[in-house]
Amino acid sequence: MPTTSTPTHCPYCALQCGMALSPLPTGGVEVVERPDFPVNRGALCGKGRTAPAVLSSRVRLTTPLVRSGGSLVPATWEEALDRIAAEFGRLRAEHGADTLGVFGGGGLTNEKAYALGKFARVVLGTSQIDYNGRFCMSSAAAAGIKAFGLDRGLPFPLEDIPRTGCVILVGSNLAETMPPALRFFNELRENGGTLVVIDPRRTKTAEQADLHLAPRPGTDLALALGLLHLIVAEGRVDEEYVRERTTGWEDARAAAMAHWPEYVERITGVSVPELRETVRLFCEPEAAMVLTARGPEQQSKGTDTVGAWINLCLATGRAGRPLSGYGCLTGQGNGQGGREHGQKADQLPGYRKLDDPAARRHVAEVWGVDPDSLPGPGRSAYELLDALGSDVRSLLLMGSNPVVSAPRAAHIEERIRSLEFLAVCDVVLSETAALADVVLPVTQWAEETGTTTSLEGRVLLRRRALTAPEGVRSDLEVLHELAARLGVEKGFPTEPEEVFEELRRASAGGVADYSGISYDRLAEGNGAGLFWPCPAETEAAPEPGAEARAQGGEGDGPQGLEGDGRPGLEGDGRPGLEGDGPQGLEGDGRPGLEGDGRPAGTPRLFLDRFATEDGRARFVPVSHRPAAEEPDDDYPVLLTTGRVVAQYQSGAQTRRVDELNAAAPGPFVELHPRLAARLGAAEGDPLAVVSRRGRAVAPARITTGIRPDTVFMPFHWPGEGRVNTLTNPALDPTSRMPEFKVCAVRVEIAD
Ligand code: SF4
Repeated sequence: MPTTSTPTHCPYCALQCGMALSPLPTGGVEVVERPDFPVNRGALCGKGRTAPAVLSSRVRLTTPLVRSGGSLVPATWEEALDRIAAEFGRLRAEHGADTLGVFGGGGLTNEKAYALGKFARVVLGTSQIDYNGRFCMSSAAAAGIKAFGLDRGLPFPLEDIPRTGCVILVGSNLAETMPPALRFFNELRENGGTLVVIDPRRTKTAEQADLHLAPRPGTDLALALGLLHLIVAEGRVDEEYVRERTTGWEDARAAAMAHWPEYVERITGVSVPELRETVRLFCEPEAAMVLTARGPEQQSKGTDTVGAWINLCLATGRAGRPLSGYGCLTGQGNGQGGREHGQKADQLPGYRKLDDPAARRHVAEVWGVDPDSLPGPGRSAYELLDALGSDVRSLLLMGSNPVVSAPRAAHIEERIRSLEFLAVCDVVLSETAALADVVLPVTQWAEETGTTTSLEGRVLLRRRALTAPEGVRSDLEVLHELAARLGVEKGFPTEPEEVFEELRRASAGGVADYSGISYDRLAEGNGAGLFWPCPAETEAAPEPGAEARAQGGEGDGPQGLEGDGRPGLEGDGRPGLEGDGPQGLEGDGRPGLEGDGRPAGTPRLFLDRFATEDGRARFVPVSHRPAAEEPDDDYPVLLTTGRVVAQYQSGAQTRRVDELNAAAPGPFVELHPRLAARLGAAEGDPLAVVSRRGRAVAPARITTGIRPDTVFMPFHWPGEGRVNTLTNPALDPTSRMPEFKVCAVRVEIAD
């Protein structure tokens, strides 16, 4: 094991802050800052700083557990693995492969996500695999693919943010979710740029903004349409850009013109002067960006909502140009990579589509199987969980805790309890693991090596820094052992680098091409990583989307604009981009070769063309529609959900850290003083929040920083304060994202 400090990355969110782990004389490790890592420059939030506490937690699992007589009891690894293999084999023989479900997580490394997807399709032969990243940013992914032909969280590095002119941040509270990222926005304002924050709550992020708009939850789509209406009405459309680089403008324009400002004001509660000021701030600078997060995405119209914000960027020429563009701030540590390499229901490695014959042939060849043996696309995450106990009779769960994190959680908990067989790999006995028939104790981030892909599309190497406790095995070892027991002796290596080498080949030529990336390259220099696509043969490699174009039988369309304001050409005196990018970044961000002839990766996408068949971005005409559940006499208040800085997702890890629990010990109901007065509630009073799906109880937190028609609850806790008991699983028709962000409730003083 390393005796000196090991550079690595935080296990939690998609910022993937750089840190180092230094061995302690007493055993274990401590976190050391890594100021040389360009994204966070040494800064960490409390979650990252305390992450080693989970490694040595007194509730850490170190022995497999097997259910016997109604209780989970310690077992040997052989007994536990044999039981899983026997149950999967039996159920498959009796009911078919699709009776076996697999559910992954956005925190799994690329290697694990890849191996899990391959395990499901090659070993189990099931189509029933999806992951909790579906709950995170799948609407942004769907909208990005529709508009640009490709989904990568940010199509530019975070370091571009301080040098643009205006950022509209829609539904992101990054001051709490990823605090080190706030510096990019502070620098933006120091440089003379402006920040507009759109959020129903006056969050810590909104407090930093030049302008804060607080729309009614579920109306972000109408808001974007109203802004586009004003852009047209005020003559601010970049007609040349629209003509040269886009298609579909007339239909999108017509849809937006039906959303006049006064109408939008009535829907959203955002005043017409605020709409006009937003348009002014966004359109006056040479460059501007729109960034979305879970607020607009976790809606039953999330894909259309993100599409409307993309339309705003396209109409004003703010996409595929330096320092301009649309981006999604992905949430989970490897939410991006997790969906690129095969644990999503409809995808194969390299962001290939499972229903694409050429993609199936390519991946099947790498896997050494017949393409026809690969199952087709399966159900989305909520639909898969909802099917448990009916036609999906067993589940292998890796890196997720849906009893807390799924919408309509009491129902999902009941579905999980009705399974014939549940196997869970986890580091602690999460609320979902506690329901399992077999629990396997697995290694954590610092005890294993692997790659993740950050919200920038930056592929990073997390390195092993200490030895795992005795009795613990890695997820890759689990898959290797289970595959062997189910008759597949080869193809599931336990060394992460070996898995990555196969992933490189499987991704080669795909949209998310990693073939030019290796562990050696990721370990070089300050470990700043490489941005995909990074083809091994840059000069001969297709541009993103070229494979899809070729399969469609259509030739390339006209090239996009070039020479129209490359990095460094701003006329306002702000610094350009040359020379200060991360490792492997070329001056203009295009794929290219480093000085030694190796591919450099692609920090900035779409500068010459979009990844569509004709190279043009596509406007998608969208119209406002209400949330799936609107307030009425029985449920007159809107509920929205989110996060707090000291907890992460379902809290399976962070609720085991004393310092974080002290800072954020439990859920609360945030409400406006006017609503509190109507209820007769005082600060700290227990409030019952009731929706059509159930009831949650938590203390009142009264603040003027929320709309009077809305209450907010964070979602990190189980039990009576579990807000996902209330949330609505209404799905977006394209992304199948549930509507976490808005549902109708009534609020009462709890008995
Ligand atoms: Fe950085 Fe996110 Fe980890 Fe906090 S949780 S240290 S913001 S990666």
